[in-house]
Amino acid sequence: MTVLEMLLRYQETDMQLLRVEREINASEERKRLSRVRNFIQKAPERLDVMEEKAFGLHVTLDKLRYNYARICGELDELEKGAGDALDEQSIAYYQKKTEGVLHNLATIRNEIHKLEKTIEQSKKEYDEMKKMTIQMQKTEYPAAKAEYDKKYKEKENEIKKIRADMAEIAKDIPHGYVEKYNTKRKEKVLPVLFDIKGNNMCFCNGDLSQTELFDLDKKGIAECAHCGRLIYRSH
Ligand SMILES: [Zn+2]
Repeated sequence: MTVLEMLLRYQETDMQLLRVEREINASEERKRLSRVRNFIQKAPERLDVMEEKAFGLHVTLDKLRYNYARICGELDELEKGAGDALDEQSIAYYQKKTEGVLHNLATIRNEIHKLEKTIEQSKKEYDEMKKMTIQMQKTEYPAAKAEYDKKYKEKENEIKKIRADMAEIAKDIPHGYVEKYNTKRKEKVLPVLFDIKGNNMCFCNGDLSQTELFDLDKKGIAECAHCGRLIYRSH
């Protein structure tokens, strides 16, 4: 058997493994585990964002309260002034001014009230998110992991058998080829072995140089300079 033929057998067997892996990856158990993992991974960042938002709300609230107190001080001044006013014109002036200030105070009070409600709501959301995160870590994750492990175990024997077959085939393949194949497989450059069928284009659409074509014809197998696939040419 030529190196190419052995490598093709290796790939064919590997495709069986790929099918099993894809089946496991597409399973509900795997999807659930991914969802839970994803949630747990993103939780700290999500909580940070919520905390930062809450901090901003508190800063705004402090400013509003400060303004409210300041305007209350203005009101005291106006009341003092109004008490000292003697003529009608002055009294009317203070009255108008006081009305304006009272209106301002009512507006700010309203804003403070709204903001306090928003803060209360965001605190509730934060607490819920925190509770949910803990529940995910303590209950959901172990449950999802156990379900997934069970699913994997069902396929484990099949996977072991295919891996053993691959190891058996690899024994006779000269050093370097299988390692190269496995590297590309890990990078998900599939299929690793590609038949250019008399063409001079690889699967990746990369053009083969004269040197590569010469190499290919000499060895029966070559490496694409663009994607690293092992290419061969059937006629
Ligand atoms: Zn290529």
